[in-house]
Amino acid sequence: MNISTYFLLIGLPLLLALWSQYRVTSVLNRYTKIASPRGLTGAEVAQQILDASGIDDVTVIQTEGFMGDHYNPTNKTLNLSSATFLGTSIAAIGIAAHECGHALQHQEHYLPLQWRSALVPATKFSSQILPFVVLGGFFFHMTHLITLGIACYAILMLFQLITLPVEFDASSRAKTILQKMDLIQSPLEIQGVHAVLNAAAWTYIAAFVAALGNLIYLLLVRREER
Ligand SMILES: [Zn+2]
Repeated sequence: MNISTYFLLIGLPLLLALWSQYRVTSVLNRYTKIASPRGLTGAEVAQQILDASGIDDVTVIQTEGFMGDHYNPTNKTLNLSSATFLGTSIAAIGIAAHECGHALQHQEHYLPLQWRSALVPATKFSSQILPFVVLGGFFFHMTHLITLGIACYAILMLFQLITLPVEFDASSRAKTILQKMDLIQSPLEIQGVHAVLNAAAWTYIAAFVAALGNLIYLLLVRREER
């Protein structure tokens, strides 16, 4: 395999991931400093959105777990990091509304969310065994291990692909509902929520591109081994 193929499949996705991570950090930095118009916390905004949507079986909780802000469909909890839960910034209410978007998807049996949940166990298993599989495959030149690695990356790629509509839809629900409920008003606030959610969207695109790049890379490696 020549160096330019390697750069295209592995290097470029890595640069995209670094860029998107940097962007999220800088956009969050900017919009955690801008207060939301009503001074409500992320937790209060989440509760108001859930109430307005007729969702009464989802609990908003403060979490310090490594997963950060997320909606857990298995126990119907809306987990917000302290910064989001207690924060009253444009960033905090934007993120809280985005997580409510997932609760709304769950309530409406939004199909991509169901597919994504169904893929979680296989995805967890794949990412756990992948380092051993790939290392073993390269060191011992075992084609079977590389084939197993390809299967793992195929599952990861599929998971990241299904994640895209789930995340984009949750963000678009968040933008709509925040404006409809008058929780953001001025162009600056609207622009802020859009910037925060769009920056986050790029990290999901980067994760998909990385999984796809790795998958194609391993497919090429296996072809050369033969
Ligand atoms: Zn999300």
